[in-house]
Amino acid sequence: MGNDFHFACFFAAFVISVTCMVFTFTNKRTDKLQNKLYIWMLIIVVCNSFSGMIIAIGEPMLPIVRSAMPVVLFAQFTYFVLHAALCPLFFLYVSIVSGLAYKQTHLQRAICSLPFFVTEIMTIMNPHFRWIFYYNSNYEFTRGKAEIGIYLAAALYFLMSILLLWFSWKAINLRRRFAIVYFFVIVVAGVIIQFLDQNVKGELFAEALALMGLMLAVEMEDDLVDVNTGFYNRKALRMDVNNYLVNKTKVDLVCLKVSNADIIQKVTGSANVDLLAEIVSGYLKSIVPRFHIYQTNPETFVLVILDRKRLNGDDVAQMLEDRFKQTWEFKGMDILLNAEIMSVKLSDELTNTVDLFYMVDSVVNDKTTTKILYSKDLDHILRRGEMENAIARGLDENGFEVYYQPTFHLNGLKLHGAEALVRLNDPVMGRLFPDEFIPIAEQIGMIEMIDDYVLRQVCEFLQSGVPQKYGIENINVNLSVLQCLKPGFVDHICGIVEEYDVDKKTINFEITESVAASDYEMLSVVVSDLKKHGFRFAMDDYGTGYSNMQSIFSLDFDIVKIDKSLLWGAEETELGRIILGNSIKMIDQMGRRILVEGVETKEQLEMLKELSVDYLQGFYFSKPIPQNEFIEYIKKEK
Ligand code: C2E
Ligand code: CA
Ligand code: CA
Repeated sequence: MGNDFHFACFFAAFVISVTCMVFTFTNKRTDKLQNKLYIWMLIIVVCNSFSGMIIAIGEPMLPIVRSAMPVVLFAQFTYFVLHAALCPLFFLYVSIVSGLAYKQTHLQRAICSLPFFVTEIMTIMNPHFRWIFYYNSNYEFTRGKAEIGIYLAAALYFLMSILLLWFSWKAINLRRRFAIVYFFVIVVAGVIIQFLDQNVKGELFAEALALMGLMLAVEMEDDLVDVNTGFYNRKALRMDVNNYLVNKTKVDLVCLKVSNADIIQKVTGSANVDLLAEIVSGYLKSIVPRFHIYQTNPETFVLVILDRKRLNGDDVAQMLEDRFKQTWEFKGMDILLNAEIMSVKLSDELTNTVDLFYMVDSVVNDKTTTKILYSKDLDHILRRGEMENAIARGLDENGFEVYYQPTFHLNGLKLHGAEALVRLNDPVMGRLFPDEFIPIAEQIGMIEMIDDYVLRQVCEFLQSGVPQKYGIENINVNLSVLQCLKPGFVDHICGIVEEYDVDKKTINFEITESVAASDYEMLSVVVSDLKKHGFRFAMDDYGTGYSNMQSIFSLDFDIVKIDKSLLWGAEETELGRIILGNSIKMIDQMGRRILVEGVETKEQLEMLKELSVDYLQGFYFSKPIPQNEFIEYIKKEK
């Protein structure tokens, strides 16, 4: 009965571990070091339980069948040889999963593997010295003097694994922690049960069960891997980067954003969004192994470089740049892909996952050609988190300040008005410019408060009567288009202005051309409503967007502000001159007044005098300046 029961215990362990093996291989989870260690642990449990079954059958036969002896001895021998490797493997496995393995020095590794080698040598020599076990003259299994050493070594590795888990607790996600703790508990329970009752062969059974737990919670990565490409996803990136950060592991990250991925759909006529991954995957895998590639968005890939001595992030970025300058062969077609490549060092330059995802999700202009951005170019992305805090702080602590830049009549260069331009003075980050914080404020929904603040400041200024006294006809206030389209916007604006004793026609709102493209019908209602209340309107940055001419000119603007790029372009080439000249002619024929921005030099001024524009704005006259300086400025002008 006893031996039948032993057999059943081993058989159960065998079936469980073989099942885990089958699932691991059918899911192709075999290429990472972690997977390989797991498979080795499974192999040990499979072989050990097989040996166990042979021993359970063979031992009772020993006194009768002489030839059973070598078989049983061999089964016991392989059992001990393999089993001595299980705990060290588990220790290695935990150190990989926790991420601490990457930080061990060669010396530490050598010390850690010492007990393993000692016990293995003792076991391998057992046929000669019988240190571990032997069969006595009554055919009974007998423990050798050194068998306790094997248990001690196993206990030592177990203890070290627990310590690893303790130190990397925060670096491991919940599910994995649970699986590893489960592993500890169930294996220890198995050992104790077997210790208390030699008849219950619980040890291997417990190990098989514990390995199954690891398979389900650690090895199973269906929620982390894309089935088609085999690349890891955002969730995996977050998890792994968090692990590197907590452990302070220095790794390089290279983020690759293909800016014209839609071209693939256009040339292939296929709606399959995975085509991009299919085209570039072979190349990416030739740089880093599959399991260090993450596809976070359909057109964004992140490569993790762990072995920085062999190849660092900047080298990889350079390789990618060179490759993306050439075409990609796909189904007989040559496709040229443009990519923005960002190279950053984790822990040094990138210190949290929030910034990481700002980088990963940053929007690339679809006209971007292939280029590399290093951390200094990524400052605006890397300091995005800080920036959000600065905006909130600015609103709380009155850190925003309105600057004014004067505008002039071309005719006689007489003072005409001013544009209100906001600045943020932050105690931590210093003076911040709107190009950086306005887009962020728009995304986090704080633009409304900023624009309201600016409008109130302008109203207060106008109410004082000072600007009007020195010849300012109106002050331009920038509006965010997103906000204009919100219901109740017109009432909201009127409500603010009516709190002050200000003539509405002294306020001139600006909306940029490029954004104005989104929703003309709504926008046109808003513009005409505000105009009915007496406000003026200007279209900003004309020439930077690619909007539909008919739609933008159907909006009831008083002034069109021609962007500085058109002026500067006109200085450079004949083509630029034709574009500027004809834009001005066209807008003039439509009866709108024209302001040209970005006038910096006397030459530009002379050129504009030849063309029929109305107003000028630019550093040639003045940079945007604080209100008190502005007052001094206009006093002098008068
Ligand atoms: P914008 O409306 O096109 O403002 C003109 C920008 O051009 C200003 O930059 C101004 O300093 C700059 N500029 C003016 N003349 C010259 C010149 O001769 N040469 C050069 N190189 N630059 C010149 P600023 O103040 O940094 O503002 C950037 C943008 O931020 C503005 O572009 C506007 O779109 C936005 N912005 C500024 N204040 C506000 C605001 O209160 N609300 C909203 N929603 N947006 C604002
Ligand atoms: Ca403006
Ligand atoms: Ca502008």
